[in-house]
Amino acid sequence: SPPLLEAKGLCVDYVTEAGNIRACDDINITLHRGEILGIAGESASGKSTLLAALGRLQRAPAVTSAGQVVFHAKGKEPVDLTRLSEEQLVDYRWSGISIVMQSAMACLNPVSRLKAQFLDVLLAHDSSLTKATATARAEELLQMVGIPSHRINAFPHELSGGMQQRALIALSLACDPELVLMDEPTTAVDVVMQRQILAKVLELQEKLGFAIAFVTHDLSLLLEISDRIAIMYGGKIVEVGTAAQMYEAPRHPYTQGLRNAFPPLTEPVRKLTGIPGSPPNLLNLPQGCAFAPRCSQKIARCESEIPALLDISGGRAACHLLTQEIPEPAKEALNA
Ligand code: ATP
Ligand code: MG
Repeated sequence: SPPLLEAKGLCVDYVTEAGNIRACDDINITLHRGEILGIAGESASGKSTLLAALGRLQRAPAVTSAGQVVFHAKGKEPVDLTRLSEEQLVDYRWSGISIVMQSAMACLNPVSRLKAQFLDVLLAHDSSLTKATATARAEELLQMVGIPSHRINAFPHELSGGMQQRALIALSLACDPELVLMDEPTTAVDVVMQRQILAKVLELQEKLGFAIAFVTHDLSLLLEISDRIAIMYGGKIVEVGTAAQMYEAPRHPYTQGLRNAFPPLTEPVRKLTGIPGSPPNLLNLPQGCAFAPRCSQKIARCESEIPALLDISGGRAACHLLTQEIPEPAKEALNA
């Protein structure tokens, strides 16, 4: 089937007084219909910037400086979202692509009851709806995420943190989107609530068939919920593969490090090994591979040449170790 969304050579910069920060550098990734794509990486790796750019939701000082984001909406010609006017984008917001952010309180309007916020979105998208039908739909959406329908009259602050987050998820689904972008949607709630919310999201995703791009620094969480996972480091995608592959045999040394720092819940408890060192300063990137200064497996080439993201059986990875030529004498020894 055709892809749902394709980022091609996407670059996003923050134009600051200190200089140009390239938070997304030549991003190439495809999302398929109904797929859950996880995006992981340490803080400041560019995850939120990428997610926002995928929905043309980035704000100044972020600028998409190169590339395309091609959206294949059902029944419409594919469009490059980076080229659309704000007016044209209205056709794709909520019904095509919606977003759930980390903090519900930052997204919900604090001085407006849930009902008004749901009606705003529903009526803006379907002017043929009556207030009564839109209200019924809003109640149905709230029930879908486990919120009693009478809470439709509540103000956001009257709800618990978990309920606020679920209300926001319900709102993101109001216009039956094809893609929901989720940026750490459960970090603000406790672990038990996090589990409940994720289970609900997966249940609705299965039922309604929307695709999800899910950002978190927690790789173990992504291993459980994703079909595929993209790993970001220093503004670049350094590895992409199926969740199974990332679980069993991550190939980039950075992914291996993350995998050890966030072991799956199903593994016996053991001492966690973080990755020594810290992520690069995007204003002053090393010359070669951005991960080289922290990489225990680096070779000479890593410090001078940026590795490209290349096809490696079943996925893609950007690491010289995976593509290096075996030196002739070693080959002879192997053949002997
Ligand atoms: P986190 O896990 O902390 O949410 P992230 O992977 O989502 O991190 P981004 O928020 O996308 O990372 O940030 C990527 C880079 O862009 C960082 O170096 C950050 O400092 C820079 N950046 C983000 N927002 C801005 C901004 N408003 N102005 C300037 N630079 C920014
Ligand atoms: Mg972020």
